[in-house]
Amino acid sequence: MERTVKPHLVLIPWQGAISHIIPMTDIGCLLASHGAAVTVITTPANAPLVQSRVDRAAPPGITVAAIPFPAAEAGLPEGCERLDLLRSPADVPRFFAANKRFGEAVARYCRGAGASLLPCRPTCIVSGMSNSWTLGLARELGVPCYVFHGFGAFALLCIEHLFKHRPHEAVASPDELFDIPALPPFECRVSRRQLPPHFLPSTSMGGGPLQEMREFDLAVDGIVVNTFEELEHGSTALLAAATGKKVLAVGPVSLSRSPSLDPQAMSEDARRCMAWLDTKASKSVVYVSFGSAGCMPAAQLMQLGMALVSCPWPVLWVVKGADTLPDDAKKWLRENTDADGVADTTKCLVVRGWAPQVAILAHPTVGGFLTHCGWGSTLEAAAAGMPMATWPLFAEQFVNERLIVDVLGVGVSVGVTKPTENILTASKTYGSEAEVEAEVGMEQVMEALERLMDQGAEGEERWRKAQELKLKAKGALEKGGSSYVNLENLIHSFV
Ligand code: UDP
Repeated sequence: MERTVKPHLVLIPWQGAISHIIPMTDIGCLLASHGAAVTVITTPANAPLVQSRVDRAAPPGITVAAIPFPAAEAGLPEGCERLDLLRSPADVPRFFAANKRFGEAVARYCRGAGASLLPCRPTCIVSGMSNSWTLGLARELGVPCYVFHGFGAFALLCIEHLFKHRPHEAVASPDELFDIPALPPFECRVSRRQLPPHFLPSTSMGGGPLQEMREFDLAVDGIVVNTFEELEHGSTALLAAATGKKVLAVGPVSLSRSPSLDPQAMSEDARRCMAWLDTKASKSVVYVSFGSAGCMPAAQLMQLGMALVSCPWPVLWVVKGADTLPDDAKKWLRENTDADGVADTTKCLVVRGWAPQVAILAHPTVGGFLTHCGWGSTLEAAAAGMPMATWPLFAEQFVNERLIVDVLGVGVSVGVTKPTENILTASKTYGSEAEVEAEVGMEQVMEALERLMDQGAEGEERWRKAQELKLKAKGALEKGGSSYVNLENLIHSFV
């Protein structure tokens, strides 16, 4: 039967984190490039980020709708529309409360009752994992509801296994390693301390939002994942079998636009990075980044920094939260790295703002990536054919590390065992004394970098495997490729 309704997908990212907004906007751009009408719903503070990505991809048929986020009504400062803008862990429950009210405003908008109306009736909703309120809206409108977590399929599969089989409950201590046998024959050995917040004894989020997320996951019609089927050794199919839901791998979404940047549109930081990279030799630079907001205790940052300034390779180091470091750490950074200059001779270039990561990873002078294993970064590295040294901080990043190192063979582990406390995982049970000490010493970092940048047989083999992934990633989004087909399926899955 011929379809008479034009597909119109409404994407509602979890507004709490840039790393959720970025890939969902990119999914919107990919869907629009396949001919669907798309609306990306966001908040006024996050709208410029969304709009700038849409403008760079410039597909027709995509609308960005900024709906006010009721921060003040929930007791947050005006404009506090993401977790990285919160004042302290005590604000986290307020943020979730504000997000619920945001859901009511989004529902009014999608019903067409607001002052500004959706361009046309939605045929499908894709929702960030913490926006459980989208389910009621989708049911009311009679359209399918997909969830987007921002995690990879392997991590989602491990999380599903943990929920169902609870292997973590059988271990005696938070440091004892146990296996999550979700993807045989591969092992995934982690400790309880290294699990995502759902399985930690107490977090600043409280149990409520986590319970709601789980109920939402169980009720949705399907899962959209930023990955490609060829990457995670059958994890997408296993996830579909384990959850009984459609799993649509539609990535890597970072390939939705060219990594090369328009010099006119580049920020000062971006210009500095790219100009500096241009002066370096092929595959000689180590790129170091811990995601959109990843920070570490000052003592740890300095051990890392000492390794970066004394290793033999040029280093491009993104440091978030530099302004909040204690004075001695600030002084050390100032004296030992080049945070402002653009000299070709700079050994360690520090970026305190926003680095153009996808363009950096695609640059021919970059030879290795020291990463916190956030899924966005992991997939961007895979899509760029870049080997990684892994330094997970929290959430599902320790599981991603196992995928990178043990399953894909494109990474070397730095050997971090303890998570770094962050605003979401702040927990009374695990205490904070251990976190203020440096777990990883300078020598340990140096060893990992040596293996990462190794030009011998082991390093070459990692490089070859990473380059293979790059080719497969590109193929997945080309006409007829796995992600291309899944995007089509998502567009036409409406009831
Ligand atoms: N990112 C970037 N520049 C930065 C920091 C981060 O472009 O200076 C992007 C990165 O390319 C990725 C996202 O922010 O798309 C980070 O996502 P990820 O899942 O790796 O980590 P998270 O921020 O959730 O910890």
